[in-house]
Amino acid sequence: TAPPLFPRVALVGLGLIGSSLARVLRADPTLAGELVAADRSPAVCARVLELGLADRAETDPARAVAGADLVILAVPIGACADLAAAIGPHLKPGAILTDVGSVKQAVIRDVAPQVPDGVHFVPGHPIAGTEHSGPDAGFADLFRGRWCILTPPPGTDPAAVAKVVELWRRAGSMIEVMEPGHHDRVLAITSHLPHLIAYTIVGTATDLEEHLKSEVIRFSASGFRDFTRIAASDPVMWRDIFLNNREAVLEIIQRFTEDLTALQRAIRWGEAETLEQLFTRTRDIRRGII
Ligand code: NAD
Repeated sequence: TAPPLFPRVALVGLGLIGSSLARVLRADPTLAGELVAADRSPAVCARVLELGLADRAETDPARAVAGADLVILAVPIGACADLAAAIGPHLKPGAILTDVGSVKQAVIRDVAPQVPDGVHFVPGHPIAGTEHSGPDAGFADLFRGRWCILTPPPGTDPAAVAKVVELWRRAGSMIEVMEPGHHDRVLAITSHLPHLIAYTIVGTATDLEEHLKSEVIRFSASGFRDFTRIAASDPVMWRDIFLNNREAVLEIIQRFTEDLTALQRAIRWGEAETLEQLFTRTRDIRRGII
């Protein structure tokens, strides 16, 4: 039988995304051979072995990446710089390094300088997730039917990119290659702004007077509940996303604030036609999204 596409894989960070990828890799012997997990949490390492998600688990990432053909970073964005510095000298020549971070320019800025010559860095971002975290929250179908965006710097070895494409294809994803700055602007509106608004609404409700707050919880079966589900997402991950996609997020908040102000004015002056026109336009756009 032919050897697997990646004879040895090291996966750093075994939370929702990392453990879901581990499940994908474990399910397909033609994709990955040995799988070594690394997580700074000893409890996560122990759990990963209990779940059978890796052959070995290390708290020291440098030990985990030694000899690996593919190294996947699945840690919060803010951890990438130190992690890359720690593993850089231990990466095998010819190895492929990839990541799953939700912001791309900042991760490339932090990681690329630590990548030795002869190692291929292919940054990626699966557009898939839930509001849960940790190794028990992962599942193999998380990426099925979802997009994965790759943002390889110009000049990246096409064979390395093709292998990362194949990894995501096996996970069931559709793949798009994009320039990192473009990725960050697109995600600021499709993902980061909705999270910011959800966090804000829950914050506003939390600050209400006591008697109103209890009514919010009681009647939250309506819009509030659906709309704010994403506000339960991991605080560290989202802190890092906003700090690392600062410019694109600030730009989109500015535009959103202007639109909200226009809406406020239309409501104040009773501009029925303006409101109806806007809601008709947005309904038509929303219906085009499945
Ligand atoms: P998670 O909180 O479920 O897991 C993160 C894991 O990384 C934890 O087990 C933690 O112990 C470990 N970790 C943290 N710092 C580390 C370090 N320095 N060295 C080793 N391990 C470390 O998070 P997640 O949801 O799996 O997110 C991981 C990455 O995936 C983030 O960069 C995030 O931007 C990206 N991402 C998340 C989603 C989502 O919806 N959750 C979607 C797409 C991409």
